[in-house]
Amino acid sequence: METLTQIAGEDQKLKQLLSIYQAHQASQENKTSDHEELSAKYKRLVGVLKKYKEDAKSMETKITEIETQFSRLEQITEELASAVGACPNCWGQAWSCQFCHGKGKPGTYDVDRENFEQYIVPLFKKQAWAIEMVQKVTH
Ligand SMILES: [Zn+2]
Repeated sequence: METLTQIAGEDQKLKQLLSIYQAHQASQENKTSDHEELSAKYKRLVGVLKKYKEDAKSMETKITEIETQFSRLEQITEELASAVGACPNCWGQAWSCQFCHGKGKPGTYDVDRENFEQYIVPLFKKQAWAIEMVQKVTH
């Protein structure tokens, strides 16, 4: 089977047309391979973005859970502080505390009776040594 080059032979016009045609073919092949390469990169990028989006959503859920837990712990800490008359911010342990300047240790402020009953009274019901200790201190 004759090739196009053989058919063109020494005909300059045909050789010129053939080289233009071959250059065009080559550029079409490059376009196809470029397109396939870009398409593969795009698919990989979409995959990475989907994974990133899932990770971000999962992270957001965890942050919300941690914020909820932190908020609950903060509330308990404040209730406990009021049950023993301590600074709700630092319990008298931080000189940099804007509220008490490190002077709000337990017994400093008025006790919240409701929180005292909720958190402290059950201790005295089950731990006899606690009552004895209080009696020694108060007598
Ligand atoms: Zn404080």
